[in-house]
Amino acid sequence: MDGQVIVVGASLAGWRTAEALRREGHRGRITLVGAEPQLPYDRPPLSKQFLTDEWEEAKLALARDGVESVGAEWRLGEAAVSLDVATRAVRLANGERLEGADVVVIATGARARRLPFGHDLEGVLELRTQADALALRRAMATASRVVVVGAGFIGMELAASCRTRGLEVDVVDPLPAPLVRGLGPVLGERVAERHRREGVRFHLETGVEGFEGEDRVRAVRLTDGRRLPADVVLVGIGAVPAIEWLEDSGLELDDGVCCDANGFTGHEGIYAVGDCARWANVHYPGRPRFEHWTSAVEQAGVVARRIVGGAPVEHAPIPYVWTDQFDLRIAIAGEVREGDAMHVCLGRLEEDRFLALFGRDERLVGAVGFKRPRQLNACRRRIAEGVAFRDAIAEFDDSVAAEAKADAASHG
Ligand code: FAD
Repeated sequence: MDGQVIVVGASLAGWRTAEALRREGHRGRITLVGAEPQLPYDRPPLSKQFLTDEWEEAKLALARDGVESVGAEWRLGEAAVSLDVATRAVRLANGERLEGADVVVIATGARARRLPFGHDLEGVLELRTQADALALRRAMATASRVVVVGAGFIGMELAASCRTRGLEVDVVDPLPAPLVRGLGPVLGERVAERHRREGVRFHLETGVEGFEGEDRVRAVRLTDGRRLPADVVLVGIGAVPAIEWLEDSGLELDDGVCCDANGFTGHEGIYAVGDCARWANVHYPGRPRFEHWTSAVEQAGVVARRIVGGAPVEHAPIPYVWTDQFDLRIAIAGEVREGDAMHVCLGRLEEDRFLALFGRDERLVGAVGFKRPRQLNACRRRIAEGVAFRDAIAEFDDSVAAEAKADAASHG
C-alpha cells in the first residue's frame, strides 16, 4: 500500500501502528497528529519510576533510537477537532485541514475521569500525561499529606509511590477493597494489607462529598462525615475515551469507537486502536474496551497488517495488564469477577508470591500472578483455549511439582 495514512493520536497505539506499517512494507506517507507537544512517550512509568526515582523525561521515549526510521510527518501540539468520514479529511484545532488520506487510524486514547467538583482548586491533581506527572512531582516536593481518591490501578500505584517518597497517604474508595474490579475481593485485600504495612491508611466503603479550601485544597470531606486533611488530592477514578472530536463524524460511538475484530470501523479506510477503541472479541461479547498497554500494542500490529492488505484475522485476545506497587509485581490475565472460584498455586497468599487461577462455569477465566510473571502468558493461552478449570489447576499444580523437582536438582 503506497497511499497516505493519517494517524490521529501520537502515543503508544498510534506510534506502534506507524512502526508496524513500515515493518509490513508500507511505503506511502504517514502523518502523526498529536495533541501533546512531546514525541511518543510511555505512560506506565508516570505513576511509578517517574515519581519514585525522578526519571528524566527522555527515559520515557517510546522510540529509543529516535523516530527518524519511520519517516513520518508530525503535527504535534495540535488536537484534531473533526473527521470527515467520507473524504477522510481531518481538521486540526489551528484550522488546518489534512486531506487526501487513504486511511485514517484513530488512536486518541483516553483521558482521566474527573469528579463533578473540585478540579479548580490548586492541589487537586489527576494523572494521565507527562505534564500531569511533572505537576504531581512538583506538588510532592512540598506536600506532606496526600489523599488519593479511587483505589483502582492508578490510585494504588500513586499511593505506593507517594508513600515511598515519605508522604502521609490516605486512600478513599466506595468499594470494600482496592482493585476489586481487577483482582476480586480476596486479592484486593492482600494488596491493601501490603499497603497498610507501609503505612497507607484506607477509608473504604465511603465516598468523597467535597473538598475544603479557598484557592488551595486543605481537606477532603467524606460521605461518612469524616474529614481528611490534605495538601494534595490525587483523583484516580478511571478514564474516559477521548472521542469527543468524533461526535459529528457518523462513526458508531459508544464509550469508545466501535470496531470489528480487526479495528475496522465499518467506514472505508477508517480504523481505531488502543484505549479509545472497542473491538469485537469472541471471548467477550459486548465489544470490550481494554485500557491496557499490551492491548494497544497488539491492536496496532493487527491494524497495520489490515491496512497493507492482509486478510482479516480473528483477533480475540485475552486481556493482560500488570501493576507495580512497592515490591509487588502483579500481573493479570483474563477477567476476575466477584464469585469466581479461586485456586492458589505456586506459592502462598501470605507470602505475596503465588499464582491464583480463577474459574467460572468450570472454565478457567482469569489468572493473577503476584511476583509470578512467567506463568501469565501460558494462562492467557489456556483461557483463550477455554480449558476446564480443573485441568488448569492440574497443569499448574503439576508445574509446582516440576519446580520443586528442579529446585531439588539444582541444590544437589
Ligand atoms: P494514550 O496513551 O492515551 O494516547 C493517546 C494520545 O492521543 C495522547 O497523546 C493524547 O494526547 C492524544 N490525543 C487525544 N485526543 C486527541 C485529538 N483530538 N487529537 C490529537 N491527539 C489526541 N497499562 C498497563 O498495562 N500496565 C501499567 O502498569 C499501566 N500503567 C499506566 C500508568 C498510567 C499513569 C497511565 C495513564 C496508564 C497506564 N497504563 C498501564 C495504560 C496504558 O498506558 C494505556 O493502555 C496506553 O497508554 C494506551 O495507549 P493509547 O495510545 O491508546 O492511548
